[in-house]
Order: sequence, then structure tokens, then C-alpha cells
Amino acid sequence: LALLGPAPGAPSCPHGPALLFVKTSQGKEEGRRFYACSACRDRKDCNFFQWEDEKVSETRLAAREEYNRNHQPPFTHRQNVDRYKNFVLLPLSKRRFCQECQQLLLPAEWEKHSDHQFLCDITTAQLKSPSQLLYPLENKKTNAQYLFADRSCQFLLNLLTDLGFRRVLSVGTPRLHEMIQSRVSQEEEFSVRSLLLDIDFRYSQFYTEDEFCHYNMFNHHFFGGEAARETCRKFLYEESGERVIMVTDPPFGGLVEALASSFKKLMAMWKETEKEGHDNKEMPMFWIFPYFFESRILDFFPSFSMMDYQVDYDNHPLYKHGKTGRRQSPVRIFTNLTPSMIVLPEEEGYRFCTVCQRYVSSGNQHCEICNSCTSKDGRRWKHCVLCKKCVKPSWFHCNKCSCCTLQKHSCEQTDVGCFLCGKAGHKRSACPSL
Ligand code: SAH
Ligand code: ZN
Ligand code: ZN
Ligand code: ZN
Ligand code: ZN
Repeated sequence: LALLGPAPGAPSCPHGPALLFVKTSQGKEEGRRFYACSACRDRKDCNFFQWEDEKVSETRLAAREEYNRNHQPPFTHRQNVDRYKNFVLLPLSKRRFCQECQQLLLPAEWEKHSDHQFLCDITTAQLKSPSQLLYPLENKKTNAQYLFADRSCQFLLNLLTDLGFRRVLSVGTPRLHEMIQSRVSQEEEFSVRSLLLDIDFRYSQFYTEDEFCHYNMFNHHFFGGEAARETCRKFLYEESGERVIMVTDPPFGGLVEALASSFKKLMAMWKETEKEGHDNKEMPMFWIFPYFFESRILDFFPSFSMMDYQVDYDNHPLYKHGKTGRRQSPVRIFTNLTPSMIVLPEEEGYRFCTVCQRYVSSGNQHCEICNSCTSKDGRRWKHCVLCKKCVKPSWFHCNKCSCCTLQKHSCEQTDVGCFLCGKAGHKRSACPSL
């Protein structure tokens, strides 16, 4: 399956303009092109489908429009902001949150939710940490909501304030946004602003239109239309020298090319805000993603480099850092900032390599032959003279395949590259990165 990208005149599903796809076989397009939902990789979440050359009747178009309208959230963002204002005026005893509908309830609505589970006595502190109040939408392939562990979130926030940034465009990073907002309300000297762009509309119950935009990062769609787009544009405009950085942590199963295309549009938006000042500069960005996507990301953003810092999550079944020894997280920071400026915590074992001019994991040894610190996963890698590069410690050189790979592999060459790491020789399911 290949993505042909956002096409002009594409039909829309409830998640905005659909993306154009085509089936491919051995690198060649095969069969009819079709449109499918940009946001949902699970047909159960959105089953939009249309052949590119399909004639759609007026009645079907009308039905589709009606369907799209009916599949918008029950309240608008504006309504949610007004509801919030009323909610905070209530005494604690009347502040309820419906867990089933994931909604703050006003007393007049209790009746309707009487057989739903709800939480009582919602405190101001709870309202300030919606990511704790809302359940993470992790079961759905679509949202893949994995929240930063506090330690990683602190690290990111300190890093970007130390770098002098005063504005953060938080794209799919609700917990970072929340941490910024709460620091602002607690500390007088803390003057960082954040705008959250996320497809999870539940957040509109807690943030104003200047703090949250309902946004789809796979097709750069602002659900709030031109007004929301303008909010984002204004936010990116660096008045009084307040520098902006974009931080994003997209669902990992997402299509890298679709994400890259949207991020380029956000970068272009930033660039357009100032006519001369930005010259050839790019909007600074942290793209948080697993290390095995490195080559894919660099294809789209050659100016980026991958940092060794391992980003930890609270609710990720595999990469959670627990008290009982931690599994190494494969998630890294990709950035277009100069690597030497990204200072990683020495107390967690990171050290500065003077040759590479960047901080690296403690296990990442500088290879004299490659002349770089080559480990991607934090373990010490070994150099293979035949491959002329460093490889994972568990790999060995297979003469049949003439490359290094896992001991257990079938020596048949497949033409198409792996969907995950892009390398030939194996399918996604057998990707050694996993
Ligand atoms: N680690 C981050 C959360 C990352 S999980 C944090 O703790 O702040 C991925 C996030 O992207 C979720 O908030 C999810 O709602 C959002 N998301 C998923 N699909 C999206 C899409 N198509 N457009 C915009 N945001 C999306
Ligand atoms: Zn859809
Ligand atoms: Zn080095
Ligand atoms: Zn080497
Ligand atoms: Zn080798």
C-alpha cells in the first residue's frame, strides 16, 4: 500500500479530506487508486472508502455530508468553553465527570447520565490535569495515546526552556501542554505558552480556543476551519522575540509521509509569519518517534538528527519505565537543532562525545572505523568489516544474504523493503527493530 498524498479535491470523511492510496507490488503501482480515511487505520473507527475514478451520485454525496455532520462531537468547542465556565462556578459537591461519556456534567444533565459511572468532587487540580482525568485512548489503533512519564515530560520542558523557547506548538502532546499550563498558573516567572493541536476533542472541555485546536496531523485539517487556522498562525508569529518550537509525538503506526507533509505545512505557516527574519531557517522542531524510523524521517527532513535520549511512557505496555528495572524505550527525539545543544542528563548515564559533538547513551561506544557513536538502541554495537558498519550485538554476518542479520532468519531476498525500517530482506512482521 502506498500513499499518494493529500490530493486536491479529495472527498471528506468525518476526519477531514481523505488521502489517496494505491496498492503496490514490487515497487510498482497495481490496481485502482482509492481514497481512505487519513486518521483511522482501523476500519472499525472510520470505514470511508471511494475509488479515485468513482462517480458518486448526488444522493450519495448528500448522505455523506449528513453523515459527516452527524459524526461531529455533540458540543462545539465554544459550547464546551462556556460549559467549563459554568462548571468551575459549581461547588465541589456538584462537580461530576461522566466516565462513560468522558464529559464534565452540569447538574441539569445528571439525569441523562444516571446509569453511567461518574466521578464526583472534581477538584481544580483535576481540571488542570485532563490527561489524568480522561482515560487514554490506547486500545484504538487510531489514537494510540501513550502519555509521557513525568520524568520524560519534565526533561523535555526543561530542555526547551533552557534552549530559550517561550512558545510550544504541542502537536499530539497533551501531557506536555498540560505541564506547561500548570507551571504557568503556579509560577509567576514561568512565561511559556503552549497551543495544543490534537484530534482528541475531549480536550476542548478544558482549554479555550487559544489553547487548543481540534486538528488532524495526517491531513493538516483544522476542524475549526479558518478561525482555528488563524489561531495557529498567530501563535507561530514570534512577536517580542518569543521563539517558537514545535513538539510532536504522533501515533507510531502512522504514515510517515502523511505526517511529514503536514509538518512541512506547519513549518511553512511559521515561515510565512515573518517576511525577512527567517531567511533559510526552519521552524525548530522535536519529532518524537521510534529510532527504527530514522531513515524514513531523514528522507523527508534531511536537516534532522536523532538524539540518544530514551523517551519513557506511563501507560505503554512495552516501554514503560518501572521500578522493577526498565525496558529500554525505542523512542527518540528527532530534531533540526544543532545536536550539541541538546544536553542529556548525565545522572541517567548520558555522556558527551567530543568527536560526534553530541550527547550519547552510556552504552554507545564511539567506533573508530565508522568515526561515530553508532548504537541506535543504547546497547553497545559491534563493527562488521564486511558490512562496513556497526550492527546490533545480537546480529551476525550471513554470507548468503551478504549482510548482518539475526541468527534466525530465512535467507530469501524480498524485493520490497520492510514497512517499518525500510530495509530489504524482511517483512514488517519479522523486522529486527521490533
Ligand atoms: N506522549 C504524548 C502523547 C502522544 S500519544 C503526551 O504525553 O503528551 C499521540 C497523541 O496524538 C494523542 O494525544 C492522540 O490523541 C493524538 N493523535 C492521534 N491521532 C491524531 C491525528 N490524526 N491528528 C492529531 N492528533 C492525533
Ligand atoms: Zn475518517
Ligand atoms: Zn562519538
Ligand atoms: Zn563501526
Ligand atoms: Zn555484516
